[in-house]
Amino acid sequence: MSSSDYRAQCLNAINSKQKVWDLIVIGGGATGLGIALDATMRGLKTLLVERADFAKGTSSRSTKLVHGGVRYLANGELKLVREASIERGYLKRNAAHLVKDQIFIIPVYSYFQVIKYTIGLKIYDWIAGRLSFGSSYFISRTKTLAQLPGIKSKNLVGGVLYHDGQFDDARLALNLAQTIWEKGGYAINYFTTTALLKDADQKVFGIQAMDLETGLQYNIHAKSVVNATGVFADEILTLDNQIHKKILSVSQGIHLVLPASFLPTTNALMIPETSDGRVLFAVPWHNKLILGTTDTPIDKTDIEPKALEQEIEFILETATAHLTKKPTRADVLSVFAGLRPLAAPQSIHQKTKEISRGHKIIVSASGLISVIGGKWTTYRKMAEDTLDTIEKQLEITHIKCTTTNLLIHGSSPNTDFSNPLYVYGTDAKALKKNIAADGNEMISEALQIHKAQIVWAIENEMARTLEDVLQRRTRALFLDAKESIRIAQPVAELMANILHKDSNWIKNQVDDFNSIAKHYLLN
Ligand SMILES: Cc1cc2nc3c(=O)[nH]c(=O)nc-3n(C[C@H](O)[C@H](O)[C@H](O)COP(=O)(O)OP(=O)(O)OC[C@H]3O[C@@H](n4cnc5c(N)ncnc54)[C@H](O)[C@@H]3O)c2cc1C
Repeated sequence: MSSSDYRAQCLNAINSKQKVWDLIVIGGGATGLGIALDATMRGLKTLLVERADFAKGTSSRSTKLVHGGVRYLANGELKLVREASIERGYLKRNAAHLVKDQIFIIPVYSYFQVIKYTIGLKIYDWIAGRLSFGSSYFISRTKTLAQLPGIKSKNLVGGVLYHDGQFDDARLALNLAQTIWEKGGYAINYFTTTALLKDADQKVFGIQAMDLETGLQYNIHAKSVVNATGVFADEILTLDNQIHKKILSVSQGIHLVLPASFLPTTNALMIPETSDGRVLFAVPWHNKLILGTTDTPIDKTDIEPKALEQEIEFILETATAHLTKKPTRADVLSVFAGLRPLAAPQSIHQKTKEISRGHKIIVSASGLISVIGGKWTTYRKMAEDTLDTIEKQLEITHIKCTTTNLLIHGSSPNTDFSNPLYVYGTDAKALKKNIAADGNEMISEALQIHKAQIVWAIENEMARTLEDVLQRRTRALFLDAKESIRIAQPVAELMANILHKDSNWIKNQVDDFNSIAKHYLLN
């Protein structure tokens, strides 16, 4: 079934007058998609509505780690680390095409650090138990320099090597949406919630929503409504109650993407103590290097957050202190920012970096359920806990959660991560055929993107706009903003051909894309 057919089916289901959904999920990031999938698997009639594209928000802007969280261990959050380590193991098994075992090395510069990090990471291994990705151990100075070429050697004593997971966040979100469809649920993008429907007792019984492609309005009824809108959760709570207490504290994190030559290895670097009291990662990703991140409290929530000058400077300075090749603004291929939907602090003195990354489920007097906080890594557990709450709310018999063993669309146990098409998992075979049938024609040599991948994104991956294709289906904007701007016109023309759009559409798409993409450029 093509994406357009799927959208039409979704709209048919929404239009069906008799339909009262068991559950409507507002928001198509990691949190909402996880909840909609678990609900579908428990047999609930489920609809997810996303006002932009799947993972347009925070869920495409993470550090791309599936991790227990070494930093949270240092904060003493053992429960969170244990939970995330277990989820990391499930995710590697269930999305084996996207989650890979990543070696991290912490360079150490004193014997005190050797002891501190060796013991700390042994505890990290132990917490994960049988779901550990591999043991940590100390490596000599010579081995550290061999395994992390590009790091400074002055005063280096050695390194502590450990394992964590790495993934492609937006692709996983898309695969979750595809799994929802395959299991009988519905998830639609470019469909926004504009109001909550309430009865005389002020209980929520559905949403008012709008199809952003047609402007048509819908009243959609449901037994339960979940607010999974990340940093926009307070907006939905305002629809519920104008004078509600703010539940969120928003913090921004940015990443710089550099050529892989700054750390020419498949291993990742972890800098455990930065001047802002956090950690900084340098992680290889799709043949580039991602550096991040920051933790900056932010007042304004924006779907396209912008990196602040001091955040860019901080990352460049920290990297310069550790890498032999000094990165400058001119080297940056892309800069992207994301917003953390953290639970509001318990006191005015609590800093955002100190707020727990655990999740919170809040049931309002109206029955609206809001889910905030958490991590990409723990999205499945967040969903399980939310569904348990919904079952109680609806007073229905408990159905066992099955997502711990549920293979996500594309999952393939023997993934060859050196294959440029690996993110497509089991779809790669069909896509490869299309690429060959299309004469291997490339749209970007630099990013190794074939024309057939654009067609695939429209026909099979619910891509509706140029930005969907370049920002999340292919990751071009995150990997090389200049190159993505260069290919915007030909990609839009190709899309227009398939979607039967005119030259105005092409112009608007390119203009819209360029106005976003310019913020990903530093030079
Ligand atoms: C810088 C940074 C780095 C991170 N790194 C990691 C990491 O390496 N590993 C990890 O596990 N976690 C990481 N995280 C955390 C993780 O990315 C987030 O916890 C997760 O993505 C949040 O997902 P979400 O679904 O709650 O929010 P979002 O992804 O923001 O989704 C909310 C969605 O709701 C939609 N929406 C809003 N209003 C409406 C409406 N009215 N109608 C319909 N839809 C609406 C939005 O368009 C959006 O798509 C990181 C976070 C940040 C900020």
